[in-house]
Amino acid sequence: MQYPCIFNIQATQSQTGETNSMMRKSRRQIYICSFCGKQQDQVQRLIAGPGGVYVCGECIAALSTGPEEPQEERGLRCSFCGKKQRQVQHLTVGLNGVNICSECISLCQEIIAEQQRH
Ligand SMILES: [Zn+2]
Ligand SMILES: [Zn+2]
Repeated sequence: MQYPCIFNIQATQSQTGETNSMMRKSRRQIYICSFCGKQQDQVQRLIAGPGGVYVCGECIAALSTGPEEPQEERGLRCSFCGKKQRQVQHLTVGLNGVNICSECISLCQEIIAEQQRH
């Protein structure tokens, strides 16, 4: 026996924050990982790049072991350091046109490792 509709309502809630702004107006701004869409409250670490791009520690961990196979040249740039796709080893494409290169990923790994030592 299945209950098709009832349990889908919560799972399909908007993630834009528009419809939730009433509940959140007393809270500080919510930052969201540009790669997995998780909010800062849901992740251990959120690293900010220039221009309002963010990547969380979980994505850094996942991407650091990601595929290194050759990529199709699409003229993309890293959203964190601004390097072009062909200038870097690998460029991971995130949500909303946000990308991160393998150099920035390893830099973020260092930041996370540094902060965990304290
Ligand atoms: Zn993430
Ligand atoms: Zn980069």
